[in-house]
Amino acid sequence: MSNYSVETKCIQSGYTPKNGEPRVLPIYQSTTYKYDSADHLGDLFDLKADGHMYSRISNPTLSCVEDKISDLEGGIGAVLTTSGQAANLLAILNITSAGQNFVSLSSIYGGTINLFAVTLKRMGIEVRFATPEMSDEEVDALFDENTRLVFGETIANPALNVLDIERYANIAHNHGVPLLVDNTFATPILCRPIEFGADIVIHSTTKYMDGHATVVGGVVVDSGKFDWSNGKFPELTEPDESYHGVVYTKQFGKNAYITKLRVQLVRDLGVAPSAMNAFLLNLGLETLHVRMERHCENALKVAKFLEENDKISWVNYPKLESSSDFGLAEKYLPKGACGVVSFGIKGGREAAVKFMDSLKLAAIVVHVADARTSVLHPASTTHRQLTDEQLIDAGISADLVRMSVGIENIDDILDDIKQALSEVK
Ligand SMILES: *Cc1c(COP(=O)(O)O)cnc(C)c1O
Repeated sequence: MSNYSVETKCIQSGYTPKNGEPRVLPIYQSTTYKYDSADHLGDLFDLKADGHMYSRISNPTLSCVEDKISDLEGGIGAVLTTSGQAANLLAILNITSAGQNFVSLSSIYGGTINLFAVTLKRMGIEVRFATPEMSDEEVDALFDENTRLVFGETIANPALNVLDIERYANIAHNHGVPLLVDNTFATPILCRPIEFGADIVIHSTTKYMDGHATVVGGVVVDSGKFDWSNGKFPELTEPDESYHGVVYTKQFGKNAYITKLRVQLVRDLGVAPSAMNAFLLNLGLETLHVRMERHCENALKVAKFLEENDKISWVNYPKLESSSDFGLAEKYLPKGACGVVSFGIKGGREAAVKFMDSLKLAAIVVHVADARTSVLHPASTTHRQLTDEQLIDAGISADLVRMSVGIENIDDILDDIKQALSEVK
């Protein structure tokens, strides 16, 4: 499908039925696969033949959805996981072991900060946070010979900083390590990080990709472009004992990283989603391009409305000319900057709570990026585990309200905001 536009790929990629087969991607609700010979199964176990052996490792329904997402991102392969958290965990564990470290931008999702700073730390893997303000020299100074990768989010959740993908790809590549980009908020409709030098792309598919708030999931996509044979990645260039000494770079070439992530980490850690969930995710993907267009259009109108309102102290949306990331948004997000807008209400935390409680159409939920307009106060919810210092580094103030603008009629959304603001004295 590589010659089609991204909009066509949303609908057509991944599954192409043959004569007389179901038009819609079937749900292969089977843990198990049948073989004509024991030899063939032996070859599958030795990774010498292609095919499914057990649904903890791969499944035909999942494969189609993986192929679609990989195609959307311009990758060479993808692996679905049970959540975005699992996807980020596996993407890092695939090339990082105890005693090693990695560099991450500090303005990222709160759950990812916990994963990096607490859980990975307990596993002996150290995260070194780079703030977006740091100069190249200051970021360079975070690296040593045990640094394995650089991590950032295209549009940070919820600070909405836009990642200068080319800049961090250059920094990472100068140190001989890959750039991993969490592209959850942008989706491949608004930005394809591989085109700007990212090596691995990760998503929480729970957000816009599903788009209807029905399925928690994640995906890791491999660009196939990083050269793993520079001596820094022995797990890919030296024999894997768990497969009788297979050497991933030798046997799988540019698919080394994504193959190892599936056959070793998904196998051992058990984070394969169900066929039913992959099917639901695929339904979401079929309308992703149409929904993203409306999310972006509505969010920009909400952001402009809030900017003009005297009860609002500040508004952050990368497509506002007042945004410090406007230039980056023009470069990396020409079609729009997703549906998420953050802002502060005069009167701080108390006013924010009054505003949220007064909304009628927009609901208070611990979710973003689905079809319905919703609001959240990160400092008291998703990011409440963070220290004050981590909150500031993550770009979150105590008065920050995060609104996920949905795809309802824009006049209804604005009317709801107006009446809720009128309740704030
Ligand atoms: C939600 C989110 C995650 C975590 O994904 P889950 O599917 O909730 O596990 C990771 N990164 C970003 C940017 C997110 O918004």
